[in-house]
Amino acid sequence: MGRLSTLFAPERVAVIGATDSEGSVGRAITSNLLESFDGEVIAVNPYKESALGLHCYDEVTSVESPETVDVAVVVVPPDVAVDAIETAGGAGIENVVVITAGFGETGSEGAARERELRAVAEKYDLNLVGPNSLGVMSTPVGLNATFGNEMATEGDISFMSQSGAFVTAVLDWAAERDVGFKDIVSLGNKAILDEGDFIAEWGEDPETDVILGYLEDISDGTEFIETAREVTQDTPIVLVKSGRTDAGATAAASHTGAMAGSERAYEAGLEQAGTVRVESVQQLFDYAQILSGQPLPEGDEIAIVTNAGGPGVMTTDAVGDSELSLAEFEDATLDRLGEVLPDEANIYNPVDIIGDAPAERFEIALETVLADDNVSMAVVVACPTAVLSFEELASVVVEQQQESGVPIATTLMGGKSVGAGQDVLSEAGIPNYFDPARAVDSLDVLREYRGIQAREFEEPAAFDVDRERAREILESATRRNTNRLGVEAMDLLDAYGIPTPQGDVVTTPSEAQAIADEIGDDVVMKIVSPDILHKSDIGGVEVGVSPENVRDTFEDLVVRARNYQRDATVLGVQVQEMVDLDSGTETILGMNRDPQFGPLLLFGLGGIFVEVLEDNTVRVAPVSEPEAREMLDDIESAPLLRGARGREPVDEDALVETVQRLSQLVTDFPAIVELDINPLVATPDGVQAVDLRLTIDQDEL
Ligand code: ADP
Ligand code: MG
Repeated sequence: MGRLSTLFAPERVAVIGATDSEGSVGRAITSNLLESFDGEVIAVNPYKESALGLHCYDEVTSVESPETVDVAVVVVPPDVAVDAIETAGGAGIENVVVITAGFGETGSEGAARERELRAVAEKYDLNLVGPNSLGVMSTPVGLNATFGNEMATEGDISFMSQSGAFVTAVLDWAAERDVGFKDIVSLGNKAILDEGDFIAEWGEDPETDVILGYLEDISDGTEFIETAREVTQDTPIVLVKSGRTDAGATAAASHTGAMAGSERAYEAGLEQAGTVRVESVQQLFDYAQILSGQPLPEGDEIAIVTNAGGPGVMTTDAVGDSELSLAEFEDATLDRLGEVLPDEANIYNPVDIIGDAPAERFEIALETVLADDNVSMAVVVACPTAVLSFEELASVVVEQQQESGVPIATTLMGGKSVGAGQDVLSEAGIPNYFDPARAVDSLDVLREYRGIQAREFEEPAAFDVDRERAREILESATRRNTNRLGVEAMDLLDAYGIPTPQGDVVTTPSEAQAIADEIGDDVVMKIVSPDILHKSDIGGVEVGVSPENVRDTFEDLVVRARNYQRDATVLGVQVQEMVDLDSGTETILGMNRDPQFGPLLLFGLGGIFVEVLEDNTVRVAPVSEPEAREMLDDIESAPLLRGARGREPVDEDALVETVQRLSQLVTDFPAIVELDINPLVATPDGVQAVDLRLTIDQDEL
């Protein structure tokens, strides 16, 4: 049993601010509770004798054994809410649902009030929902501690929503359909309890089969990923995350910062957490229904059985648009279908048993294809005819599904003739849709969830690195009073075992000459200045400088920097070994810190066209080896790295290791706000970090 089990299954609930004033929230809550709750409802209101037939206590402390009150629902005005919660906490009440609004959502006074509220909740270790919540529901005990106007019917979906209005809309919608719920919570401002807490709770709840959520943000991305990963092994989590773009995004100094914004952090974080993300409310509930009603398929191959050619083709098209594939039947299946079906029928997938098919013909066709080892799921598509009863067909489908254990969705295409059949199917947890694309899409989520369950989470590797040296480099920047670091900080990468070309940053032409002589070949020279973000843009990079030109190039580079910005701080010139770009590919490896999810790694095609091509992928760090490898698979230019057009493939393992090493660096140092290694040149012999740029937050050091 989870920590929140009494919140959802209380025996005594006190309404603090209970009233019978017409049209008030306090009245709605009290009356909703009285309507269906199995336990005791207690009214607290010092200004009232009674409310809706309940005696009103002055204080929750005046109630008999107040410590046995399981939940206090707070509906008093905001200026007295915190005191009321303090009293409830002091009385030993553990669960508090704060309906009252006027906190963080309303400006600075409200935000201050919310801080007070949080302090009180922490003092008493309260399980606090809200504030600014519509309330909570739990159907097994008839708990409706909300001010909505609909009580949910019983079911196995638990649902959380950051929008209270959306809860009421969903309840209204669900009342029309056969969608039932176990628990519902309106999260409100999430001062204490957030999505992670409810996911953890429902993960332990045997009565919750599917967790649904409507979220606008995630309070703690790291914790969310950790909790959800575990829960989703047994209980699917389906989420709508509304795309609230972050106005707070500051002008990024790195390519990674520009490309890896918060929307991508959510996308990556929710994926890494093992949640199924959906775009629409319809998908949210379609997926919930099929995930709770049908078993998971063993493979991705789908069989279609239909009495109508056109809809059969539509279904086939939908399969083409999904990640599923049409099953290829075994010979025995084809032989049998040939025997039992009329000559005009199509025995190949999609199986068309033609327009005059009664339910019995569906039965025999279904039984045959479901017995085929190549069939992992099926969709039954039927149009109404004079010889077909949808109700009979529904019974056939239910029986075949239950006997075979193969997941099925149906498309009974019709209106009024569907009714009775629909009930039979719903009862058995078989989803039915008018549109075959929805049926296929729903079956596809079973495949997706099976993949999530099959994932193995590996711990991120911990390489042997020189953390102290890295810290010194970051601190020396602080001493220079700069937040921007460039190639002068290349040793940072070296400290974490990320290969860099030979070279150094020097301040005089003769020192430059000495380095070039040491390298003993043509070199690359770059201007080093915190005021110059993109060196090549101002002619600050000279590639292939021969030994006799090193001194002159040094002078040229400094002049170009001065021409660009007269008072630019020039730290010196970097003299660097040439990297063979002919056999290599310029990639980018970077990090941007997301307010919710923390360090977000980006990997993609790099070089100077990086933001033009935008071929990259992101992951929340730290990443494990398989996750780092996935990043390579993700990008569209992966074939380029793997040796397209006769090129030699690059050293993939070295790339994967470098991604993990950077992951470790940015996880170890929260002070690194954003970072680009662009290019990270990948060659058949390994990788070389050729350029570096990062921004640090000195306060985090
Ligand atoms: P910036 O990104 O500030 O313009 P870079 O150091 O990334 O500066 O250099 C720009 C480009 O010059 C790189 O994308 C790469 O094509 C080339 N380049 C830089 N350093 C080397 C090197 N050591 N070997 C070969 N080419 C290099
Ligand atoms: Mg660069």
